[in-house]
Amino acid sequence: MKCDHIDCGNTEKVWLPYIVREHPGGLKPHPFCTRCGMVKNIGSDRATGRGYFINVLSRIEKYLQIPGSSVRMRLVAKDLEKIEDFDDAYSMSKYSQEKIFLNILKKYYQLPDRTVQQFL
Ligand SMILES: [Zn+2]
Repeated sequence: MKCDHIDCGNTEKVWLPYIVREHPGGLKPHPFCTRCGMVKNIGSDRATGRGYFINVLSRIEKYLQIPGSSVRMRLVAKDLEKIEDFDDAYSMSKYSQEKIFLNILKKYYQLPDRTVQQFL
């Protein structure tokens, strides 16, 4: 079951390593969820919605003029839907979302990561 996550109070925050895109940034107080105990991802590398990635894909397709793309785009959207926690701001960072997105694209497209990353 998906948790709706409720932040703990300011005084209860836990000091944990702060990592942005695999670069450690020392210790920072992190809020956690009082329901499931999940620690929240903080900082600028916040998770975003699935729609953002579908927009990215549609921009790539327009740019590269990939034929017959709407079918594949729907498959990518379906795969994203299957990942329940994909838009969970607590457990996901944008960085980890990007990694998942790149892996899903590999199933349906032959695009170098670098090309995709220009649009992210
Ligand atoms: Zn929770």
